[in-house]
Amino acid sequence: MKILFITPETFDKEEGYTKEDLTFIGFPSLTAGVIGALTPLEIAEFKAIDEAIEPIRTSEDFDGFQTDIIALSVNMSYKANRAMKIASEFRRRRKIVVWGGVHVTALYDHHRERFEKEIEPYADAVVLGEAEEVWPQLIWDIYNNSPKKIYRAGDRPKSDSWPQPRYDLISSDKFLVKNSRQATRGCPLDCEFCSVTSFSGSVFRRRDAKIVANDIRETLSQRKQGFGRSFFAFVDDNICFDRGYFAELALHLIEVKKEFPKFCWGGQSNLYSIDKSVRYKGVEYSLGDLMERSGCIAMFVGIESVSKESLAGANKSFNEVEKYPDQIKKFHDYGIMLNAGMVFGFDTDTENVFGDTYEFLVKNKVEISLLNILVPLPGTTLYKRYYAEGRLFDHNWENYDGRHVVYYPSLMTPEQLERGFFDLWKALYSWPSIVKRVVNPSQVIAALKSLPNMSKINQIVSRTYMNKRYAEISSRIARARRSSSKDRFART
Ligand code: SF4
Repeated sequence: MKILFITPETFDKEEGYTKEDLTFIGFPSLTAGVIGALTPLEIAEFKAIDEAIEPIRTSEDFDGFQTDIIALSVNMSYKANRAMKIASEFRRRRKIVVWGGVHVTALYDHHRERFEKEIEPYADAVVLGEAEEVWPQLIWDIYNNSPKKIYRAGDRPKSDSWPQPRYDLISSDKFLVKNSRQATRGCPLDCEFCSVTSFSGSVFRRRDAKIVANDIRETLSQRKQGFGRSFFAFVDDNICFDRGYFAELALHLIEVKKEFPKFCWGGQSNLYSIDKSVRYKGVEYSLGDLMERSGCIAMFVGIESVSKESLAGANKSFNEVEKYPDQIKKFHDYGIMLNAGMVFGFDTDTENVFGDTYEFLVKNKVEISLLNILVPLPGTTLYKRYYAEGRLFDHNWENYDGRHVVYYPSLMTPEQLERGFFDLWKALYSWPSIVKRVVNPSQVIAALKSLPNMSKINQIVSRTYMNKRYAEISSRIARARRSSSKDRFART
């Protein structure tokens, strides 16, 4: 029995990301590696493709796959339409099609009528929740010609049942970030717009820190050293949430760094983590110090908003606006670059939010920002609220991508929100802004002073390069959207 695991991706849209953008922004998907590791190899062969790097374009492409089972992983809602298209192509070719992922589980649990319309007709079987417990059973059932329609994970699997992903199945060399890892799952903070708590649970589960470090060690000892090969991205939603666990993990990573001095990593955490310390095995550690010593060079931080009211509305008051400048400076003092997640269109946002955000990001020299229009993702409290208030006007999943307004904002029109968003995107990645944020005189003088050590110069060059790529992406997408937005709103 042959299984082809597909991570769907939208591509070839003038207003979307290109293959080059996706390999620059994205990471190798660990889901394929996890599912591959769970597959009983005595009865099944497993292959994986990620459409970010290997799009299935033509009818001949679909004909060419010699496989029995297609497994579709839909974690991001904006990929759901593409998954439907792939599923119907393969079902026409009499393949068994299996679905799973965050979006699929959210529709089943919270929006059953859409599940019945958009997934059930295109699926032979569906995996709900995390796959560890149910995936091998599903494959055995297919092998024995007795698959069920729904495979629901009972509990969220404990971390000792998480397999080591099969990295050999992920085309990691095609991505700028070649190594991704996951040490934890879950987040109890339950921000209104986020699907992590509802899918991965409020209990923070942690993989044995020693196993995580050994896994990285193994990859480093096998890989040729070179650009991007010693950098590891932790895809955990909130890696510093459990400070005791983070201390344990960081201490193991410090040992890895001693063996492989080029080893470095990036992750995602709350901005306030940098203010915190932890007592671990009788010793007091500052989290920033642990980050720096263990090789952290970049952190994605969900800043989300510079408005206190908007943060309160999103159940995210633990982000304290007045502390932002000091917290950002601390990250910078530890040599850690920030990628700030910023969201626009909260109920208390007015058009002023764009100017305020620009000023804040430039003033605090935030190196990169991931800007998104608020997306009411299925399964979240936000989606349920907007749905109940009759505020969703666009039900096309493809537009739930953070670059389209799909609901009526409170204090702006959809057009004002989209226009303000694209104008900010353009301004933030303009040369005057890049110069102020990453190549300003104080950074250049510090880099020159540290010569002949080239690390600061290299930092400026790589950060400028990243900003330039974002500038190209944003201006291309903004150009394409200028006309299409008007048409879309005209119909509503
Ligand atoms: S946005 Fe971050 S902090 Fe909030 S629930 Fe999601 S993962 Fe947790």
